[in-house]
Amino acid sequence: MKIAVLAGDGIGPEIIAQGVRVLDVLRRDGLKIELESGLLGGCAVDATGEPFPDVTCQLVKDADAVMLGAVGGPQYDALSRENRPERGLLGIRKALNLFANLRPAILYPELANASTLKPEVVAGLDIMIVRELTGDIYFGEPRGIELRDNLRTGFNTMVYNEVEIRRIAHVAFQAAQKRDRKLCSVDKMNVLECTQLWRDVVTETAKDYPDVSLSHMLVDNAAMQLIRDPKQFDVMVTGNIFGDILSDEASMLTGSIGMLPSASLDENNKGLFEPIHGSAPDIAGKNVANPLATILSVAMMLRYTFNQEEAALRIESAVQKVLSQKYRTGDIFEPGTILVGTVEMGDAVLKNL
Ligand code: NAD
Repeated sequence: MKIAVLAGDGIGPEIIAQGVRVLDVLRRDGLKIELESGLLGGCAVDATGEPFPDVTCQLVKDADAVMLGAVGGPQYDALSRENRPERGLLGIRKALNLFANLRPAILYPELANASTLKPEVVAGLDIMIVRELTGDIYFGEPRGIELRDNLRTGFNTMVYNEVEIRRIAHVAFQAAQKRDRKLCSVDKMNVLECTQLWRDVVTETAKDYPDVSLSHMLVDNAAMQLIRDPKQFDVMVTGNIFGDILSDEASMLTGSIGMLPSASLDENNKGLFEPIHGSAPDIAGKNVANPLATILSVAMMLRYTFNQEEAALRIESAVQKVLSQKYRTGDIFEPGTILVGTVEMGDAVLKNL
């Protein structure tokens, strides 16, 4: 298992270090794991002038899977758009053709109070959002800012073809087959032709999955329903921009973005695995970041890319035990629990592993 490790910026190196410790334990216990580090994001800009240097591109192409911390920081905000750390993220998704983003939003019973919603609305929440990652308005051409009739005018293009829609629909239907067999596809077909096609193609694809019940919802309603009654959902599938927003909303139902992992997969389940949160510059270097999202991303990597279900469950159950032993980083702390730092949280996971 050849794994490229890209720690990135801000809290990235601190949280990735804890994920690597988990992999070291698995390696000691017999898994054949090889790690190689590379630069992505702001640290790559500092070292090479580019957020996604060629050498990193080669590294991730040669690897079987990629572990990423996070990229970005205020010191890079003034850079031109092409040189921003986030461009590195878009570049790596494109280079590896990672078109499917899987984001679970799970509320652990021990953390029910961390949600801002009433415990009865969110307790037992377990949603999977499947977001298309390489198309849509984020990549569509033409795009830009130009003078039109002497007015500065900004424009972007929302575009999907049927092949792009069909392949993400297959991923979502198959994810639903492994869960409660309910899929909700989210679009804005009442206004956007692009998403009318989305609805048509998802509906066509449903014929291959008679065991999954498919529903459709407009994105504005989906945003409301996620707050009103999130447990009505099992798997949701949507395009890049709607998925960006809805998956962040879903993650907040659980109370902490420090707890949630994600996977981005290509057609062969090669993947990039990362916590959903950013580089958190406000807490970087203070040993306070929650490393559990990163550690749970390692579990997703073992499950989705390497088919090591047993190792994945071993990690997830270690995380669950740490929570029931009341260890908490600041973001999920409540009175009566034990406040620990990033490294100490890693220690606790290792002990349970
Ligand atoms: P963020 O996720 O970095 O932080 C939002 C808030 O959550 C902050 O208060 C932060 O301290 C807290 N937080 C985040 N992760 C945490 C953790 N593991 N433990 C405890 N608290 C945590 O989002 P932001 O502040 O909007 O963005 C900061 C930078 O990260 C920006 O440059 C942004 O572009 C970048 N970013 C990168 C990614 C990525 O690499 N995938 C994703 C989102 C944002």
